[in-house]
Amino acid sequence: MEDLRYFAEMASELNNAEIQAWKRAGKRVIGTVCSNIPEELIYAAGILPIRLRAPRLQDTSSADSLLHRINCSYTRSVLELLLRGELGFLDGIVTTNTCDHMLRLAGELQAEARMPFIHYFSMYHALGKAADEWFVLEMEKLKGSLEQAFSMKISDDDVRRAIFVYNRTRRLMGQLNEFRKADPPPLSGTEYFQIVLAGMSTPREQFNDRLEALLPLIQSRRAGGAVQSRLMVVGGGCDAPEFIEFIERKGARIVTDGLCFGMRHYSGTIDENDANPLHAIALRYTNRAACPAIINGFPQSYGILSKLIREWGVQGVICARLKFCDHWAGARKLLAEELRKDGLPLLDLEREYSTTSSGQMSTRIQAFLEMLKSQA
Ligand code: SF4
Repeated sequence: MEDLRYFAEMASELNNAEIQAWKRAGKRVIGTVCSNIPEELIYAAGILPIRLRAPRLQDTSSADSLLHRINCSYTRSVLELLLRGELGFLDGIVTTNTCDHMLRLAGELQAEARMPFIHYFSMYHALGKAADEWFVLEMEKLKGSLEQAFSMKISDDDVRRAIFVYNRTRRLMGQLNEFRKADPPPLSGTEYFQIVLAGMSTPREQFNDRLEALLPLIQSRRAGGAVQSRLMVVGGGCDAPEFIEFIERKGARIVTDGLCFGMRHYSGTIDENDANPLHAIALRYTNRAACPAIINGFPQSYGILSKLIREWGVQGVICARLKFCDHWAGARKLLAEELRKDGLPLLDLEREYSTTSSGQMSTRIQAFLEMLKSQA
């Protein structure tokens, strides 16, 4: 479908054609490294936030000299891009301490980046009222840094306008996801992920308009192909449509996910009537499926995941976690236990950020799908 090709193209490059056009128009771009960083505030400053990714990067040898290989390959890949000068189009980066790997990356980016703006956004690690307050305090610091670095003022109305734009994105993505309840769904998991990633690296109003135009085309699309196993993918640092395609080519359909480069980025709208827009943004972030780095977040996350599993008719779950990611290594044990109680099989895949296919993974996925078919 021609309309889908645009999203695939935008998702295939970090510094894509829309980013280049935005820069040529004299506008700024700031990179973020985690879905817990409140993009709405950066957008309220008239700056385009983009989630840092390293499509098709295979070698991190320069970064490995600064960040030990025990750090996850997502963090080393981001640093590698910086050291190769491939982030030169950015006007700044917002770093954070989601996990120790991110914290080490923050230190290296602070030391190595030659940009007008590097801001460290300190993350809460336990849900509760204190987390909401902490998030608001950190947003006020980020707001102050942006205003100072770029000699501007960010008003509450600017923040409300950004909230409106982001809510529109999340509602449109919600509509798109509803179509994936169909069996078979009218779009593949691969196509869906290209849309997801394009939405993280193109101007939001433009993305919203294109997505709104795409929805009726997807809705009327005849879903081809035999019924295949319906899967959910969870995990961290998983942002490669090629990896999703690798799974789907084996006779599966990824119909939903619990990824920070996916559902967690687009779920939940912000209360547009809250007198304090920063407080409203904080509640949206702390009430969604939590990252495993949040020590008491699993019950809330599993509540959201199991609702998706029921409503999207999921037959099996793949946990695609990065090597050395201690948080997902722990979370998959909790997840396996809960899924076992709910009678749902889990396939645990450990991978490197750049690994989108491998013989060993191929065999394990094939065996998992055959087991699901035998159970169907
Ligand atoms: S994938 Fe895991 S280790 Fe890597 S940045 Fe995310 S939470 Fe940290």
